[in-house]
Amino acid sequence: MLFFHALIALLLATLTLSCPPPYNDMRFIGNTTHTSYDLIQAVHLNPDFGWNELVIPTGAVNQGELWPCGDSGVAVVSMCFRDAKADAELADFVFDSVNMWLDKLNFPSSDRGHAVKFRVHIKPDGSGPEMCYDETGHWNPINDSNAVIIRSDRGLPYKAAATVGYRKTDARRHHNEMYLNPEKLEEGDKVTVAHEWGHVLGLSHEHRRDDRDDWLDYKCENVVGYEEARRRVEDAGVHGIDEVCESAELWYRLGFVGYAFTKNLWGNDEKAEKVTRKGPFDGNSIMLYHSYQGVGKDKDYNKYTDVPLVKWRNPGHKTHPKGRTADNCFKYRPLEDVSDGDFDAIKDLYPWTG
Ligand SMILES: [Zn+2]
Repeated sequence: MLFFHALIALLLATLTLSCPPPYNDMRFIGNTTHTSYDLIQAVHLNPDFGWNELVIPTGAVNQGELWPCGDSGVAVVSMCFRDAKADAELADFVFDSVNMWLDKLNFPSSDRGHAVKFRVHIKPDGSGPEMCYDETGHWNPINDSNAVIIRSDRGLPYKAAATVGYRKTDARRHHNEMYLNPEKLEEGDKVTVAHEWGHVLGLSHEHRRDDRDDWLDYKCENVVGYEEARRRVEDAGVHGIDEVCESAELWYRLGFVGYAFTKNLWGNDEKAEKVTRKGPFDGNSIMLYHSYQGVGKDKDYNKYTDVPLVKWRNPGHKTHPKGRTADNCFKYRPLEDVSDGDFDAIKDLYPWTG
């Protein structure tokens, strides 16, 4: 198995090294007072996060930026495994998911129209990737200090989480992270991890576009935690639940995942907002939640009436139906690949400028 991992890792290393020198999620980014890990731990306390990923809003200060270009104009998304355990448990998911992106992106070039690539450092003996930290907990300086740290966390109540975009780091503080739970990840979840890489690259959720209602029907009351949120909101008597359903911030303050469905993104998500809202709505985007995501525990996910998101059969601006019927909408399954629209978004974010 290790050899297999190493082979994939070497392939990635080859891809990065064979390019000219130079040189890359729901966002869970810490704010000024909390690190991402603090936020993750806080969420552990909430049993209602029966969910497959977590996105913590960026907070007011730390902004998700794009991965910076090196001297040659190519941005590099560097990564490393937290430790040997993370490598052993997660390498298949990580490299398979990166390869899904590479199948679309290939090399940064004028031909492909983008200027971004992934990097992983391989041990000198070729036995596998370098770890982020050594046995004593010190950063392994062979890695880029801005590398995405891939952590294995069996305590996560969901499958995956990642920071959105690039977060500036230094040698002592590393802010680009991906958390994966090896006990919850299943065969086929390379797609879930590829979605997280989309966040890492800077993409937001497709279902949060302003025009999503032309294409999708969203029922806030079907989202996990809705009833509890409604009770709390009524007890507090300050906001109405309908107001909460429209507001990422209010959802987040309540501690529920409804914010991952709201259209109004947080104010500092401008770049992701720009990209997700550019071009036509992409119903095949890997950044689109499927119908079975975030379904309330008292709901029947087999029913089109009970899931948060369905697609309209006849979508269109102001021409879509007003309410769900058995004939005018349908549930849709998890998507299976990075879409052409996702590729276009990356080309927008990281254009080849030659
Ligand atoms: Zn996401």
